[in-house]
Amino acid sequence: MADPHARPNITAAQALERLKAGNQRFLAGKAKFPTVQKEVLADLAKGQAPYATILGCSDSRVPPELVFDAGFGELFIIRVAGNVLGPTIAGTLQYAGSHLHTPLFVVMGHEGCGAVKAALASKFEGAEHGSRIEILLDNIVPALDGLDPTQTLDQLMHAAVEANVRWTLRQLHDSPEGRAALARNEIRLVGAIYELDSGRVRFLDDPAG
Ligand SMILES: [Zn+2]
Repeated sequence: MADPHARPNITAAQALERLKAGNQRFLAGKAKFPTVQKEVLADLAKGQAPYATILGCSDSRVPPELVFDAGFGELFIIRVAGNVLGPTIAGTLQYAGSHLHTPLFVVMGHEGCGAVKAALASKFEGAEHGSRIEILLDNIVPALDGLDPTQTLDQLMHAAVEANVRWTLRQLHDSPEGRAALARNEIRLVGAIYELDSGRVRFLDDPAG
């Protein structure tokens, strides 16, 4: 039975292995969460203890629960175009850390991200967007410093998607709350890129990828 005050009884390393195993099941067409039982819903209504927090993109082709073959109550997810960090998103992440105590935080970008593409167009071609979209893109453009605009568009997009994930990770690392939680070894923070065409999740800086 779910304890309303339960903490996830799992280490960050175990949480990461669980995500990887879920992505493997998804890739193999062996996903095990096609539906949810009423008893599970009733149990979860009493409380949640998700094992990982994911900041991902709103893109309809990148649903984290399906990509990681995760059921109700397993993942705490924020989705925003370009998986950018902003004040309300930082607040949601802080809630996940301080109240839900998820040991693992994942920033997951994806190949072919439209928000990243729009930010590239802003930076290198002076493209203009709607005012609210500009505010969103302002969170991505700083990530694109140092990219070589003479690459092919495919190469540039690939590099920009990863740079955007790393930029968000760096901001989280450098935030006072993030620094404190990392220093206390309470959380682990990892980057990931979802490949649209294969369904595979590539974890950054992970030899096993
Ligand atoms: Zn996207």
